[in-house]
Amino acid sequence: MSASKKILLSESEIPRNYYNIQADMPNPMLPPLHPGTKQPIGPQDLAAIFPMELIKQEVSQERWIEIPDEVREIYKMYRPTPLYRAANLEKLLDTPAKIYYKYEGVSPAGSHKPNTAIAQAYYNKMEGAKRLTTETGAGQWGSALSFACSKFGLGCEIYMVKISYDQKPYRKIMMNTWGAEVIASPSTRTNSGRKILEQDPNSPGSLGIAISEAVEKAATTEGTNYSLGSVLNHVLLHQTIIGLEAEKQLALAGDFPDIVIAPFGGGSNFAGISFAFLRHNFQEGKNVRCIAVEPASCPKLTKGEFRYDFGDTAGLTPLIPMYTLGHTFVPEPIHAGGLRYHGAGAIISQLLKDKLIEASAVPQLECFEAGVKFAKTEGIITAPEATHGIAQVIREAQKAKVEGKQKTILFNLCGHGYFDMSAYQAYFNGELVDHELTHEELYSALEALDTPKIN
Ligand SMILES: *Cc1c(COP(=O)(O)O)cnc(C)c1O
Repeated sequence: MSASKKILLSESEIPRNYYNIQADMPNPMLPPLHPGTKQPIGPQDLAAIFPMELIKQEVSQERWIEIPDEVREIYKMYRPTPLYRAANLEKLLDTPAKIYYKYEGVSPAGSHKPNTAIAQAYYNKMEGAKRLTTETGAGQWGSALSFACSKFGLGCEIYMVKISYDQKPYRKIMMNTWGAEVIASPSTRTNSGRKILEQDPNSPGSLGIAISEAVEKAATTEGTNYSLGSVLNHVLLHQTIIGLEAEKQLALAGDFPDIVIAPFGGGSNFAGISFAFLRHNFQEGKNVRCIAVEPASCPKLTKGEFRYDFGDTAGLTPLIPMYTLGHTFVPEPIHAGGLRYHGAGAIISQLLKDKLIEASAVPQLECFEAGVKFAKTEGIITAPEATHGIAQVIREAQKAKVEGKQKTILFNLCGHGYFDMSAYQAYFNGELVDHELTHEELYSALEALDTPKIN
């Protein structure tokens, strides 16, 4: 008899609340600081670019925060997402471990990102915003916000990292289809962009630069707010719907995870799958291991420093207490564009500092090898970001085999890779390499930081 491979929930089982981990964290986070005064920021400092409801969520200590009906209605287009048992992968690996994955690639944009984009567009609309600005790297977040803005009749202006703008024309056209305006960053529209272009007219751009442009535009334009797709507490909050659903689905299978794994860029999909289970560690003393997996070429969790740093390159955002490689760190142009960010969100950073979660860094070639194995066994061609999670799953499954231990592993399959075929092509052509970071490459941006240290 074979176990059921796909576990579905009905629409009525979409969670009614987001889970706010701040209510249960053993140690509170340090406050974000104003970039100018270096004093803790207050709600008013953020009001120029965010709606008040999101500012409240950013600091809320309420354990459960209700999901508005309008947001749940739109979630029904693709939620609850399926949970699968990766039985074919288990067989290939000949492992005693049970492997499950939650598949977020069924959303309109093809990743977990609409979970927060829809909520953010809703709160902005309710508070009278007319237009949102944002940045996008590989294009996943830009697609998600374009879709969400189209649902609420909001304008959407997207600063897309120049190199991706040139390399990923189809992501751009997707955003255009949902009605967004897409601008290659650095651009001449903002002071931040013009300054970079003066120094380097051929700048390929970076997420940090694009964030500076989008924040500046929102801060200086009436009726326009800014929206971020990862890192911030309210973004992580909205993503907890993933793990809350997975918890119900695993219960239907009579299971509970020993290990939860997700790829890590700024922390939103990792938070999404893991926080619901960390809650059992905090409340019931369970011992679920939660592992965030980053690229070896952008190793802020495993090699970065815990200190205050900016979220963007120009230094316009508040200073956040985070594991960082320095806000001017420019990662190698690896193919997992969504993981090329210099820092981690404040919640994740505090959890890692307190050793309540784990981190692992995996090189690019191991990731693609894992992604191809997964495609051949389970059928889904995943985003290059997601292959990082799969590579770690394979490591853990092999360890379980060596130790002869029955383990249940859950991972978040955060997105499909159907717009990332050029990355797979480069892999098959042998053009991808594992670049070993020199000490200089790894630490020069950190050494140049003059942001406050944390003892
Ligand atoms: C954006 C993105 C990531 C990285 O961001 P997180 O906030 O760390 O989740 C990873 N995978 C996919 C598919 C993404 O779109």
